[in-house]
Amino acid sequence: MDLIIASGNRGKIAEFSEMIESPIIPFYELIGDLDIVEDGKTFAENALIKARVIYQRLEKDAIVIADDSGISIDKLGGEPGIYSARYAKEGANDKENLQKAIDSLEAKGFKESPAHYTAALAVVSKYGEYLVHGWMYGKVITSPRGDKGFGYDPIFIPSGYNKTLGELDSTIKSKLSHRAKALNLIKPIITMLQGKE
Ligand code: IMP
Repeated sequence: MDLIIASGNRGKIAEFSEMIESPIIPFYELIGDLDIVEDGKTFAENALIKARVIYQRLEKDAIVIADDSGISIDKLGGEPGIYSARYAKEGANDKENLQKAIDSLEAKGFKESPAHYTAALAVVSKYGEYLVHGWMYGKVITSPRGDKGFGYDPIFIPSGYNKTLGELDSTIKSKLSHRAKALNLIKPIITMLQGKE
């Protein structure tokens, strides 16, 4: 049974393929581009929405995997959370969203704050639906450092480190990350579903 990923993000597709060690097909190669309305109230709801929409559109049996992720900053009351990809405005880029997080912290008089990343991963197949989470805890600072990673990585320092994810080697992030932790949990579920053929 084909394994389909409900994401058009090349970085995410590469991360998933590497971790799952099995061929993974981006949904758009099968059904073209699709604008999915992510109107869930949680990471879990949004991941399930994406996986269900793609599963229903496919005209063949498949295992569909979708993720939803973001950063929650304590001193901002958990913002941007599920709105991480569009924090500055609808269609904002990573740089604009990062700047909005810095400006919001500074406007409240903070130079840093505890924070965490969340990744929810949903799998939809004819055998049922599965959902897991992974988290990475640390803090954010208001002076960005480094250009590795993406999104909020230049201001995020994982617990136990004194460098941002923008400075740390990508091999460290791929061990610590919220997505890696969620993928480790979903991997045996995918193997189990593939073994049912
Ligand atoms: P999604 O593609 O709807 O899941 O949006 C995820 C958004 O959360 C991204 O656009 C980033 O802003 C942020 N994000 C999620 N994971 C990471 C990460 O590992 N590093 C930096 N930013 C992340």
